Amino acid sequence: MQVKVDRELCCSSGMCVTNSPEIFDQDDRDGLVMLRQSTFRPEQFAELRLAADLCPGGAISVVEDAVEDDAARR
Ligand code: SF4
Repeated sequence: MQVKVDRELCCSSGMCVTNSPEIFDQDDRDGLVMLRQSTFRPEQFAELRLAADLCPGGAISVVEDAVEDDAARR
């Protein structure tokens, strides 16, 4: 799974950081989203999908990898 954040779309709501502080952070200077990790464990995939769904700015994108996705669902 690949996850991207678009700081242009982020409205600094902090929802992703509140729900997933291990994965997301907010920049101290402007409050915009930052990723704490560049790779993700299969057990984090559901949390990442939820973060993308709940982001009010649509700033979090999740790109599924077919092989990893299959493994995570087993
Ligand atoms: S939930 Fe979305 S809009 Fe809110 S801080 Fe995270 S990336 Fe930005």
